[in-house]
Amino acid sequence: MQPKKHLSFSNLRKTISERALHIEDPRREGSVAHSIHDCCLSGFAMMFFQDPSILAFQRRLQDDGHKNNLQTIFGVGSIPKATQLRDVIDMIPSSSFDPIFSDFFSFLQRANQLKKFQFFKKQYLISIDGTQYFTSENLSCSGCLEKTSRKTGKTTYSHQFLGASIVHPDQRQVISLAQEPIQNTDGSTKQDYERNAGKRLIQKIRKTHPKLRD
Ligand SMILES: [Zn+2]
Repeated sequence: MQPKKHLSFSNLRKTISERALHIEDPRREGSVAHSIHDCCLSGFAMMFFQDPSILAFQRRLQDDGHKNNLQTIFGVGSIPKATQLRDVIDMIPSSSFDPIFSDFFSFLQRANQLKKFQFFKKQYLISIDGTQYFTSENLSCSGCLEKTSRKTGKTTYSHQFLGASIVHPDQRQVISLAQEPIQNTDGSTKQDYERNAGKRLIQKIRKTHPKLRD
């Protein structure tokens, strides 16, 4: 394959598709309406179209043309409804998606796109930032971070993650390298926090990219 072809849309989509096919499905076979693969690829399509919400994405699918796109361009067999999509994706541990980061990274490497990100003595700048993608005072799960306000006594539950990207001051794009949830594990009495997740994230990057160290 030509190096640049690794970075073509169809190859990137195929890579996500292959990884999604290998994600273990804990559901009983008879009760599965939409495969993990179809839900992951629908989620990817939603991000690709930059829809602001799952509902907006679903609304767009009411148009037959878009439904066709999802089937032909993204390879989604059966299209899940909003709640089904959310339930299935929620069920997948985020670590299942880690290999996709390394796949894309090696495509960039092969297409010779990494050099321009070298910052100093062939080293890379990695920026780590946290973001919150779920917060509620009513809904929670065992993985939620909990924060109780001293003033009101109210507890807020949230989900957050840390993302690491290779950045360069002269490049508009960044290369997403890895992610790590800031999340409590089952049975843990201690709250996870950003610094802990940061340590796990750095270990993850070192393990996946041993040669990027120096
Ligand atoms: Zn939760």
